[in-house]
Amino acid sequence: MNNKPSYEELEAKIKILENKSSLVDSLKHDIEINNIFLEKLFDTIPNPIFYKSKDGVYTHCNDTFSKTILGVPKEKIIGKTLYELEEYIPKEHADIYHKKDSELFADTKEQFYEGSVKCADGIIRDYHFYKSPFIVDNKVLGLVGVMLDVSNYKNALYELAQKNKILSDLSITDHLTGLYNRRYFQDIFEKKLSLLNRYDYQFSFALLDIDFFKDYNDFYGHHQGDIALQEISNVLKNTLNRPNDYVFRVGGEEFAILFEVGILDSAHCVIEELRKKVEDLKIIACNNSVCHFMTISAGLGNILKVAPNTNSEAIYDEVDKLLYMSKETGRNKITVKDIIV
Ligand code: GH3
Ligand code: MG
Ligand code: MG
Repeated sequence: MNNKPSYEELEAKIKILENKSSLVDSLKHDIEINNIFLEKLFDTIPNPIFYKSKDGVYTHCNDTFSKTILGVPKEKIIGKTLYELEEYIPKEHADIYHKKDSELFADTKEQFYEGSVKCADGIIRDYHFYKSPFIVDNKVLGLVGVMLDVSNYKNALYELAQKNKILSDLSITDHLTGLYNRRYFQDIFEKKLSLLNRYDYQFSFALLDIDFFKDYNDFYGHHQGDIALQEISNVLKNTLNRPNDYVFRVGGEEFAILFEVGILDSAHCVIEELRKKVEDLKIIACNNSVCHFMTISAGLGNILKVAPNTNSEAIYDEVDKLLYMSKETGRNKITVKDIIV
């Protein structure tokens, strides 16, 4: 029996093979086009993108990664590990990325973290890193990483926080003297009173008022009056500068001071120091029958105990009465009392 294919059969088989071969060529061509398309797509994406094999070798990256991050052509990156690129990736950064890569390969979950990167232009930028394992047939082949530059966003957040801080500082500041304003006094005063109710806590509260200031204003003019107010405010501010000291301008020529001292007796010394320092400014007074220079009078309350729900105004009034007594009994002086309400 002759098993040899006939000439016609051979021709038909050749035809089939030729068809298959041209199909393979056409598929190859399609794959080539797809690859070119994918590469173009990756290179057009403005985010740095990279692919690393399981053993940490860069096998792909896009233009943004090679140009923006490392500043070298792709060919110098592909085929190298982090540590073989130490000319561009400092060892301490390589260690961090290597650790993260190992974690990702260990738990094979998507990964997100933030990091600062010194880019090819020398500028340090903040990036979010999004990394995923590349898994085929349950086998981890490598990882894909996409980076997102969040520097502008972070800078904007920082600037916003700065502006908010300026606004909030302005809202509690008296614009003429730079001291805290009356509104902030109310806040802090209430806070201190509630602390005193809850804990074993005491504080001192003084009200200060410039003597015969109306006469000074009338004689030297409002502008000169403002300058005197600023000078006295500076003395108060510079003398009371510990973390728990607060100086407020609560009225035209009236100031409130909230402060803490170890031994309450010495609160008087603090206010006496202020009284003396104001006198030592030697601002020539007008019509001050007490002193040749501008002076202040004060009421000082050592707030020792306050019953819950006591109105803060009641305590303010108590200290205001002490100030009034200083005025009534000669000015340029301090009247002190322990306050237990
Ligand atoms: P006393 O010793 O009893 O406190 O007398 P005094 O003149 O200081 O008190 P009075 O309350 O009669 O006058 C306060 C003056 O403070 C009235 C006003 O001319 C002045 N004053 C209030 N606010 C300002 C301000 O912002 N700038 C200036 N220059 N003067 C102010
Ligand atoms: Mg007054
Ligand atoms: Mg006054």
